[in-house]
Parts: sequence; C-alpha cells; structure tokens
Amino acid sequence: MKSIKNGKNIVLGIECTAHTFGVGIARKGKFLANVRDMYTTEKEGIVPLKAAEHHVSKALKIYSEALNKAKINEYDITAIALSNAPGLSPCLLAGLRFAREKAEKLGVPIIPVNHCIAHLEIGQSIGAKDPVLLYVSGANTQIIAYAYGKYRVFGETLDLGVGNLLDKIARYAKLGFPGGPKIEQQALEAKKDNLHYIELPYSIKGMDVSFSGIQTKAQQLFDKGISLEQLSFSLQETVFAMLVEAAERALAHTGKKELVLGGGVACNSRLQEMCKIMCKERGAKFFCPAKEFLVDNGAMIAYTGEIMFNAGDYPKSPEEVDIKPRQRTDDVQINWRK
Ligand code: AMP
Ligand code: MG
Repeated sequence: MKSIKNGKNIVLGIECTAHTFGVGIARKGKFLANVRDMYTTEKEGIVPLKAAEHHVSKALKIYSEALNKAKINEYDITAIALSNAPGLSPCLLAGLRFAREKAEKLGVPIIPVNHCIAHLEIGQSIGAKDPVLLYVSGANTQIIAYAYGKYRVFGETLDLGVGNLLDKIARYAKLGFPGGPKIEQQALEAKKDNLHYIELPYSIKGMDVSFSGIQTKAQQLFDKGISLEQLSFSLQETVFAMLVEAAERALAHTGKKELVLGGGVACNSRLQEMCKIMCKERGAKFFCPAKEFLVDNGAMIAYTGEIMFNAGDYPKSPEEVDIKPRQRTDDVQINWRK
C-alpha cells in the first residue's frame, strides 16, 4: 500500500487505563483522529474485568475508525503510544496486548505514556508551555507541575477523587451516574431561585484535599431534607474552592504563570469559571482543552507519545514495555524536557 508518510512521523496513541478505550493519531502536534468508546454501567461503578472485556471487544473497531478518520493505513504508523500507567490492571493489560500485537505486526516501537502526564502535556496543544495542571477526574485529583527534572505532585486528594465524590452523592440522591453533570444541573437550578449556601466541611490540609467528611455531611443534609439544588450548589462551591485554592498555591510556590485543567470534572462550567477568576486575579493564563481532550482520550496519549518519540525517549523493544498500575507521576524519568 502507498504510504502518505513522506518521512513525517505519525504516532498512534491508545488510552485504556480505566473506562475508556480510545485511539488518537498525532502528527507534528496536530490531531488526525480522536475516537473513543466508554464502558458504562447502569447500577454499579467500574468493574475492572468488565471494563477490560469492553476494551478487548471494542479495540479493533476504534482502531479502524481512527485510521479511517485520519485517512491513513496502519503501515503509515511510526510508533504506538500506550497509556501503560496508572490504572486498572485488567484494562491496562487489554491495552498492552493490543498494542503489542500491532507493534509486532507493523514493526514499530511502543512508547509507554503516563496517563496523568498526558493530561498535562496536551495543554501544549492550546498554547500552555510550562503549566500547573489541575487534574480532576473520577478517581484522580492531583495538582501537577514540572520541577527539577520531574513532573511533581504538589497536592492531591487524601481519600477519594472529586469526581467519585460527586458520583457518590448523586448516587445517594438517586440522580444516576455519572453524577457530576447531574450535580451541575441541580446547582444551576438553585441559582434561579436563591443562592443560599449551606456550610460544608472545607477540608484542605497543606496542599492536599480530603473529601470523605464532605461526603458524610452532604448525605446527612440530604437525609434531613435539604433540597438537592441547594446541596449541589453548596457542594460545588465548597469542593471547587478547595481545588482552586490548592492550585493557586501551587502557582504561587512554583512561580508558574499558567494553569491547565484536565479530567472529566473539568467539564464543569462553574469550576472553569472559578479557575478563570483566580488566574485573572493573579495574572496567570488559563487553559482549558476542548471537552474531547479533557476526558480520557487517545489523542493526549498520541500527543505525549510524539513528544517522547521525537526525544528518542522510549524502549527500543516493545517487549520491554509493561503495565504499571500504580506508577506515581513523579516516578517517571523525564528526558524529553529541558
Ligand atoms: P474521568 O474520570 O476523567 O473520565 O471523568 C469522569 C468524572 O467526571 C465522573 O466522576 C463524572 O461525574 C465527572 N464529570 C463529568 N462531567 C462533569 C461535570 N459537568 N461536572 C462535574 N463533574 C463531571
Ligand atoms: Mg483521566
């Protein structure tokens, strides 16, 4: 088959760490495709083995769709980037098997990409150069920035991720899953009537945040009959203020002048608004990627993979790549930044 490469690299990225199987294709920092499919459940949370089955069953379809979208054939691919960490082991394994099969067939390397770092790196595609990342997803809540040769975690949740908190409260109130958008909707309803704020525990410890006390209190208030609108409004104001406070202190501490949002909770317009206000007040730039790049996606893996590929920062043999379910952001050796 004729190649369209013309000497230019094309990196295909696979996202597989949790509920989403995604394939993105990047070339010179531009996106040729970003296709994804999410495992969903009606009643339960994510069951890792079922999510992995989902990935296995969808992988080929998503891969082919991405190639079609990018108008390339698979032999045009120069390297395969894989989100090998951190995440749910069965899901990571499903991704690794698929990546290995393709890498062997095509004779290309596998570039192992840390999922959290990819959320940060994709900020570059919209102009961020050296940002602080506020990464707010279902399972993860972290404030990450580059310092002294590594991406470091400046603050994080001590218990559950902020998305999980919103999901748990929504589930408790029988609003369904995912809960974040439902809570956002309820909070908007509250604004129409009145803006009565109910105090909730504001739990920030140093640079870290904790949500379990808020969960208990919110559930107690719900049991007492506080309206869902008021509760959702108060919940958002409290937890987002905590996150923005920690992010602001990370900006102050590192002296950085850019904030990037990442993760599913970053879709929330009130959180975006609060970040915008904070950045404006301290003269920092605020970057919020489009929704398809905020949620888990293959494009950010391809994008980061391309940066690593260009720096020659990847194992020479696909065999050397393994899953790292518990890899910490600051475990990763960064050789692609100066
Ligand atoms: P992720 O883990 O990055 O895929 O993000 C999923 C999480 O984002 C879930 O906990 C959702 O409830 C949450 N989420 C999605 N949209 C919103 C929103 N508009 N407001 C708050 N949380 C949201
Ligand atoms: Mg994520």
